[in-house]
Amino acid sequence: MKETTKIPYKIYLEESEMPKQWYNVRADMKNKPAPLLNPATHQPMTFEDLRPVFCDELVKQELDDTTAYFDIPQEIRDFYKMYRPSPLVRAYCLEEKLQTPAKIYYKFEGNNTSGSHKLNSAIAQAYYAKQQGLKGVTTETGAGQWGTALSMACSYFDLDCKVYMVKVSYEQKPFRREVMRTYGASVTPSPSETTEVGKRILAAHPGTTGSLGCAISEAVETALGMDGYRYVLGSVLSQVLVHQTVIGLESKIAMDKYGIKPDVIIGCAGGGSNLGGLISPFMGEKLRGEADYQFIAVEPASCPSLTRGKYAYDFCDTGMVCPLAKMYTLGSGFIPSANHAGGLRYHGMSSILSQLYDDGLMEARSVEQTEVFRAAEQFARVEGILPAPESSHAIKVAIDEALKCKETGEEKTILFGLTGTGYFDMVAYEKFHNGEMTDYIPTDADLQVGFDGLPQM
Ligand SMILES: *Cc1c(COP(=O)(O)O)cnc(C)c1O
Repeated sequence: MKETTKIPYKIYLEESEMPKQWYNVRADMKNKPAPLLNPATHQPMTFEDLRPVFCDELVKQELDDTTAYFDIPQEIRDFYKMYRPSPLVRAYCLEEKLQTPAKIYYKFEGNNTSGSHKLNSAIAQAYYAKQQGLKGVTTETGAGQWGTALSMACSYFDLDCKVYMVKVSYEQKPFRREVMRTYGASVTPSPSETTEVGKRILAAHPGTTGSLGCAISEAVETALGMDGYRYVLGSVLSQVLVHQTVIGLESKIAMDKYGIKPDVIIGCAGGGSNLGGLISPFMGEKLRGEADYQFIAVEPASCPSLTRGKYAYDFCDTGMVCPLAKMYTLGSGFIPSANHAGGLRYHGMSSILSQLYDDGLMEARSVEQTEVFRAAEQFARVEGILPAPESSHAIKVAIDEALKCKETGEEKTILFGLTGTGYFDMVAYEKFHNGEMTDYIPTDADLQVGFDGLPQM
């Protein structure tokens, strides 16, 4: 191990140093993200339009692109104390293994029972629902991390939690399902016969194993049909990205404490919430002209919304019940190939990140899943943590960047987001170990099918 006296292996913050506000990067963006549109009238969604679906306070956060900081309510800060600050780790062992002059840091969000960063927003959303006197919330979950996080948050505030879980995950990840039920949530495989949209999708695609877009439609329909319920979402929306800035703010405070300035900041991108949360405070400095950083979004080659998608208004869900969002998208009808095991399968990307990317302020790379699992294994063997496949997309590119430094001799400082643990992804790891994992890159013709379904504006 290299000299560790200057920078500790793990940097934690004192309770008094923890962020008291979330940061809203939209306030510093010259080109604001395009507004959500009403799917019927194509007019911008107003507070009144969104109120039946989302909690009032969250609608305000969603629509606010001028307020730079939102206070984190004391109750949420108290909950954060149970598992935050998350450690900022200097990857001394990985650096040693790679023999790189680069300095690698990662912010590890897997130290809570739900195993990922999603709890940061789940607790905020549950809090505002409780404040409003609601009975419960509905949501969708894919691999199950969001549903797990939300069920923990709801049980803390004594709210009912109804989760629509993508059918393939419901069947393949029974343990996630049982964690959710342990925290009191009810879990329905989607598509289901419990909603009109579910019945419609089942009729059109009998035997479908479901998709996130489809589960979203079912969760929204259920919330709209029940008194005292609202729908909550674990990614993509601007409010979620704002809550996730606790990751970037803690990282920045920890780095500032030791005079560390990252050159490259890397994160995996599904809907964009962890990446947006990690980079926001740094992006703010870049937007204000105070500092410069290189930002890299990493996505799967099998679901390449930033690198091969179109920047267009699209439906957020398969059932087309949600508002239209302008984002980099593969089309709401896009479903990643069945061999895709690595998460990050949503068809679109946060409208904030989409705008930043379109403005050239952030880069994007796509990586194939076998190389992602190779990086995951390499990381696990030296750093000890067994990473989630999603997080391993960031690991892969962090390693690539560190190896580039080895060639050029540059001593760059690399920061990446390690969003979670992979304990519930062992079926995917098993496939990888057995040599049964394959890569699939959609053809242009495959992608065209999704683009053909974009709404005509
Ligand atoms: C959900 C999830 C992601 C992707 O979601 P984003 O909104 O893009 O952050 C990444 N890593 C883990 C572990 C997740 O659970």
